[in-house]
Amino acid sequence: MSKKSKISYKLGLPPAIARKVEKTGQTRGAEQDTIYQNRVNRNNTVIIPLSSWKLGIAPDKGFENGYIVIAHPEEYFSDTPPSASRSLPKDLTIGENLLVYYETRLQWNSYNPSQYKDWQSATSRKSPLGGQYVARVPNTTSKDDSLIRQGYIDSNSGGQGAGIRVYEYASSEEIKATRYQLSFLAWRTEGIMDIARDEGIENPDECKQKIDKECEDLGIADLQLLEKNRIIDSQKRAICPLCLKPILAQELASRVEQAEGRNVPDLTVTTANLFHIRELRAGEYNHCSYNLGWGHHHCNAAARDWGIERTLLWMEEILRNNGRTIELMEN
Ligand SMILES: [Zn+2]
Repeated sequence: MSKKSKISYKLGLPPAIARKVEKTGQTRGAEQDTIYQNRVNRNNTVIIPLSSWKLGIAPDKGFENGYIVIAHPEEYFSDTPPSASRSLPKDLTIGENLLVYYETRLQWNSYNPSQYKDWQSATSRKSPLGGQYVARVPNTTSKDDSLIRQGYIDSNSGGQGAGIRVYEYASSEEIKATRYQLSFLAWRTEGIMDIARDEGIENPDECKQKIDKECEDLGIADLQLLEKNRIIDSQKRAICPLCLKPILAQELASRVEQAEGRNVPDLTVTTANLFHIRELRAGEYNHCSYNLGWGHHHCNAAARDWGIERTLLWMEEILRNNGRTIELMEN
């Protein structure tokens, strides 16, 4: 076990920034018509598609709150008359760590759960799962085909959604380390001391020193590595990993939700949000220290799916196509 931290990662931070750091431990928002939970801790039960499970993607230490493998009905029922497929991995058991997931009308009609004895929609994220399947089938234009939502929809199951996307997972240890590191970076944004004093913090310098010390103890204060990973610049300022401009504390304090949230962003305010250097993608666990920085809302939106390198190539192409010349600077 790691030793207990003596101070909070929030120490001395203006409340709006402290809240932003805290939220980095949570997953992104999810709509009700998906099987994912909306903004919950990153160490929650993970949902693993069967195809990914077969590739063996579990982290070394496993998942703190378990996992649920989901198989499409076509993958699960491969025999006629329908019964469990013989090609399923031996370590998967329906209702224990495996559920059948219905997400299309065709699946629902072809393999309707009512035709299987005692099949119920699942309710628990821990084994036994309380059922064999979960369904999120969108409605169609036909009057008879209404939305189908079964499993993990109410307070019995602790809210909607079966679990989190596997690549959003982070252990509680990692969630803690990354929060301290993001606090460490927040103290390196432009104007942070002034904002902290405005908020009534008497000794912001002292708070910063304490966070620095804590991060050194945790082994997450390597300035060279942070610079190499585009998280700070040579003057030790927190920068946006895409455009490389220093982040203003004010941008960090701005309370506009990320693009995937439901609030409509106010485009007149520049905001900075959590930025993953190596983007979140299937088969990797990229919510980890030295891979997170603070980046502009718009830069984040551009780079989120592709990562930095591919986004830069894309931007180069756009500029060239628009008749702008690009000269690479010699270092
Ligand atoms: Zn930027």
